[in-house]
Amino acid sequence: MKILLLGSGGREHALAWKIAQSDKCEKLYIAPGNAGTAAVGENVPIGIDDFDKQKDFVVNYDVDMVVVGPEAPLVKGVYDAFKNDSRTKSIPVIGPSKQGAILESSKNFAKSFMKRHGIPTAAYETFDANTIDDGIKFLETLTPPYVLKADGLAAGKGVLIVPTLDEAKQELRKMLGGMFGEASAKVVIEEFLTGVECSVFVLTDGKNYKILPEAKDYKRIGEHETGLNTGGMGSVSPVPFATKEWMDKVEKRIIRPTMDGLAKENIDYKGFIFFGLINVGGDPMVIEYNCRMGDPETETVMLRLKSDIVDLFEGVANGNLDTKEIEIDPRSAVCVMLVSGGYPQSYKKGYPITGLENVKDSVLFHSGTSVKNGQIVTDGGRVMAVSSYGKDKEEALRKCFEEAKKIKFTDKYFRTDIGQDI
Ligand code: ATP
Repeated sequence: MKILLLGSGGREHALAWKIAQSDKCEKLYIAPGNAGTAAVGENVPIGIDDFDKQKDFVVNYDVDMVVVGPEAPLVKGVYDAFKNDSRTKSIPVIGPSKQGAILESSKNFAKSFMKRHGIPTAAYETFDANTIDDGIKFLETLTPPYVLKADGLAAGKGVLIVPTLDEAKQELRKMLGGMFGEASAKVVIEEFLTGVECSVFVLTDGKNYKILPEAKDYKRIGEHETGLNTGGMGSVSPVPFATKEWMDKVEKRIIRPTMDGLAKENIDYKGFIFFGLINVGGDPMVIEYNCRMGDPETETVMLRLKSDIVDLFEGVANGNLDTKEIEIDPRSAVCVMLVSGGYPQSYKKGYPITGLENVKDSVLFHSGTSVKNGQIVTDGGRVMAVSSYGKDKEEALRKCFEEAKKIKFTDKYFRTDIGQDI
């Protein structure tokens, strides 16, 4: 089978690494890919949202399946673009329709979906510029801190958690006044939940589903979750509190009602669902849905998935995922992200990366790299994920740090406390 994977980050390198291991994969193309994906497949210079070029490529190169890594093309309707073209309508696209991707692209939709289907989530109300006064009154009924969320995608910056009522009122006015453009034309205000977060992933054919290994990610730049938010500084799988009992609650209270809700609302959804959960006193609640895998969670989840991922994707395409087996590696996997000094604010790119050949005990997933005159160089804030197995997370973490030291580039930075809080 010939497969085209869309994306260019660490998540896509991890997916490419896993896809390339399948006997069913005869040829893997990655559009546009990065220096790491070039080692497991062939990069093609096509943008993630250039659907016309993607379709031409699929037709000209006899591609049998398209796998979508990031949310942007899904939200823009890549699934629908392939389905609505007579040349490509029979090519399976692993990723939800535009309608399904709304679970991620509209927080108001996601919250109302959860409410309609009785899925546990924080109490909330949604307001727009015409209902600011109602928003202020709603804030007055809540206790601090206050959670305000831009309805639409705002590059991971659209959620504000503020300590006082006065600030919450000011921020609400600013958000509805256009702080995040169209994305904050509506604002969701919700109750603050206290607990530890955990990401749970499901692969679905729209009817049947398989639960992948869960993971915990680390979002802030500084140790002990301090400083600015990033795309993610590391991840750990499994998550100790995600016991069988807890995961049974997740499946019964969250996954099944979500699947039933999608079916009831006739939402065409064939792909990954990412449940951003929080453990509130032993009970899982949903913070958010995403319509794709997480990054850096994929860099640990793929290590622990023993089943052939292309076989699972075939199950998604053919609607018989129930006939497939999912096998999980019992070992722990940890990922530590090496980033450019200065990230998530300004940083320099183009520094040579050396020492990669000395890494023997970890898997390296490139995130922001490119090749210049035959040399791999830094080309982004998050540069490379170092992922390792261990009999437990401590052993995996030790390996990550030993290997991370061998990789050299100017201003390299990574967190040394990944996984220590759980
Ligand atoms: P991401 O970058 O994870 O995709 P996002 O911008 O889509 O985030 P959310 O996931 O909804 O937004 O919120 C971002 C973070 O804010 C969450 O991971 C969580 O840490 C915190 N958060 C969101 N909602 C709540 C809540 N109700 N109570 C406590 N913390 C919350």
